[in-house]
Amino acid sequence: MISTLNGTTASEKIEQVPSVLQRHKEFFNTGITKDVGFRIDQLKRLKEVILENETEIYDALKKDLNKSPFTTFMTEIAMVLGEIDLFISKLKKWSKPKKVRTGMVNFKATSKVYYDPYGTVLVIAPWNYPFQLTMSPLAGAMAAGNCVVVKPSEIAPATSAVMTKIIQENFVEDYISVFEGGVPVSQALLNERFDYIFYTGSTQVGKIVYQAAAKHLTPVTLELGGKSPCIVDNDIQLNFTAKRIIWGKLLNAGQTCVAPDYLLVNSKIKDQLLEKMTEVIEEFYGKDAATSDEYCRIISEKHFMRLSGMIDDAEVYYGGERNMEDLYIGPTILDNVKASDTVMQEEIFGPILPVLSYDSIEEAIDFVNEREKPLALYVFSKNKKLAKKVLHETSSGGACINDTIMHLASEDLPFGGVGASGIGAYHGKHSFLTFSHQKAVLNKSSVIDVPLRYVPYKVSLSAFKQMAKFIR
Ligand code: NAD
Repeated sequence: MISTLNGTTASEKIEQVPSVLQRHKEFFNTGITKDVGFRIDQLKRLKEVILENETEIYDALKKDLNKSPFTTFMTEIAMVLGEIDLFISKLKKWSKPKKVRTGMVNFKATSKVYYDPYGTVLVIAPWNYPFQLTMSPLAGAMAAGNCVVVKPSEIAPATSAVMTKIIQENFVEDYISVFEGGVPVSQALLNERFDYIFYTGSTQVGKIVYQAAAKHLTPVTLELGGKSPCIVDNDIQLNFTAKRIIWGKLLNAGQTCVAPDYLLVNSKIKDQLLEKMTEVIEEFYGKDAATSDEYCRIISEKHFMRLSGMIDDAEVYYGGERNMEDLYIGPTILDNVKASDTVMQEEIFGPILPVLSYDSIEEAIDFVNEREKPLALYVFSKNKKLAKKVLHETSSGGACINDTIMHLASEDLPFGGVGASGIGAYHGKHSFLTFSHQKAVLNKSSVIDVPLRYVPYKVSLSAFKQMAKFIR
């Protein structure tokens, strides 16, 4: 026995995996999920039940991460509801086969892209935005007409429980199933053959998921992490810059995949920026963030210890307060940081902001390019040429000029990583495309048949070469 989950032990749940998957397959094969009306009804139901359970969701996030209702609504619920509304309003249009050009080579025919659901999708989620990062891919997979197996994070147990309740009470299990639990449950699921896997979490586990998917040639989206740099030029609007960096860093106590991980600041402005950022921290959270309703806690003792080690080894410019019992780590700025320091060896994922300085923008660009490709890159500058140069000469999953994090709130932008920070993207229409197989369909006339391709060939090779230029 591993643990008790909704009256079922994890080991019992594991045993049920193959039969639940078989039932998903049978449900999918009825064709019901391909019906756009069915998908819209199910999405409407999902929206309704989220709203019906809003208070329980707030309570769960408060328990797991000390998230306030405001932050929970802004960063978890609103994003999911926004996605669902978009799917409901656009699904009829998006799911229609899309006519594309047909070249002369296929005269006479029409060409269309069909958007086929894959079948059964596995969604494995992390703990840091445990509601949004589970429900948003779930809604995307439903919109595209798939059955879904949801594996919430065991590290945010209260949110995992409320999501399980919402799904189990409102959706047929053959259509959407939930497997709560930790690594053994996740591994049991990964041993099976899915039609698509959507994974959000660390790069390290992302590799395990990718290997498991490769065994069955299952396509994947891997939404991973990494160290997202924030480059600050000396030509900036100081106040906005400090506010947007501190907001992005301290949201969810830094436990955000696209949080600015470290600052690369032009040495001419470093002192002014440091001073302004400390003012902003106190403006946002008061002199003692531990007493602020808006300041989150570290998810677990393990992460608390890991983050503590980063502070112990560094020169603290601001903050550094910690309380293990309360899993509290105060907003912390580290100065004169070197690339070899502990804090620069892995993704921080906590409220610690290391500051490194540079003298020329090329130095900052080289620093970024010497490391793994990050999930996000931020550049603050009023100099448009300089900002463009940074974006042009670096590679990252996404980026903001003069802001942090907010690119992910734009539903028209694909959200995802590159290289070590991930494979694939989602949000808005990109979610629909991610969870759909784009099937190429050529529909040929049976009235006309151009004989050119049949053997024995009727024209010489040189004549065919001339014709080929015109019949594309
Ligand atoms: P994690 O990789 O430890 O866990 C994520 C999920 O994988 C959980 O559901 C967990 O049960 C499962 N899992 C863990 N170990 C496993 C194993 N060995 N085999 C199979 N499954 C396993 O990640 P986390 O700590 O929950 O999340 C933090 C990481 O996720 C950070 O690196 C962060 O940057 C990244 N992240 C990325 C995004 C994004 O959208 N790109 C969003 C949030 C978090």
